[in-house]
Amino acid sequence: MKQLFLVTIIALFFSISFGQVDTNKDRTQVNAPDIKVTLLGTGSPLPLMDRFGPSILVQAGSETLLFDAGRGCLQRLRQINVSYDKINALFLTHLHSDHIVGLPDLWLTGWLVSERQNPLNVFGPTGTNSMIEYLQKAFSYDVNIRIEDDKKLKAEGSKLLVKEIKQGVVYEKNAVKVIAFEVDHGLVKPALGYRIEYKGHSVVLSGDTRYSEILINSSRGADLLIHEVVIAPDTLSKSDPRYHIVALHTTPEQAAKVFNEVKPKLAVYSHIAKLHGNTEQEILKRTKVIYSGPLIMGEDLMSFSISDSVSVNK
Ligand SMILES: [Zn+2]
Ligand SMILES: [Zn+2]
Repeated sequence: MKQLFLVTIIALFFSISFGQVDTNKDRTQVNAPDIKVTLLGTGSPLPLMDRFGPSILVQAGSETLLFDAGRGCLQRLRQINVSYDKINALFLTHLHSDHIVGLPDLWLTGWLVSERQNPLNVFGPTGTNSMIEYLQKAFSYDVNIRIEDDKKLKAEGSKLLVKEIKQGVVYEKNAVKVIAFEVDHGLVKPALGYRIEYKGHSVVLSGDTRYSEILINSSRGADLLIHEVVIAPDTLSKSDPRYHIVALHTTPEQAAKVFNEVKPKLAVYSHIAKLHGNTEQEILKRTKVIYSGPLIMGEDLMSFSISDSVSVNK
């Protein structure tokens, strides 16, 4: 508790670094990270004001990539002054609604406000094609009427270009590589995690998953590992109606096992599901019994700069 308080206070007022700091780097380089990761939404499906739906922004070189479009992602992007027309691609981990309900808003309001001129590339697992097709049908009235009515809006900017993907390298542009890997999210198949690499550095996003060996193998050598977590009482029985939630996700003890295997410079919890009144403090406490490496509880708009070290900005 005391430790968490201290970390939170430090993270609130300063930028803290994890991993080896290269003293040979000059200040200009330190100020321009190779990869910047911003947690736009760290919540579960619960409609909370302090934890919006799952969505993570990764900025590397000239690439601005969005992973999942949970509730409120457009508002969060606006808070950090990233306009919709600056997003190069959207990657979906899976099609559970909490990861995509922000998409119509991101896409339509984003187009309207930013006057985007070119289509948005959307990558996602099998099923993404038809999900997007139905969304486009659902909003076709609005899109058509705005194109007719508002001469500044270009039809091209309203398009979504979908590519359904499987495991492997799914995007490679301007020296940024995105690798998708299949995680284990129970009945939800396929569900993907992502590894993003740039200039020898990397961040791994777990997506929604149970304890996954594939995730561990795909995370080797990662600077930053952002992992989901669910907490319920140890005593939760299989007959509890919420047991299936725990069975689809990763407990603090299981995440600790993952972190011990991967040994990232920094591990971060995001997509935080708290059942039966459990708290963030309890998640950290239960994790730290097994894992003693650097670990942070993610918060909306918390960001991470990855160079030769990983620093946390809040
Ligand atoms: Zn899910
Ligand atoms: Zn989810």
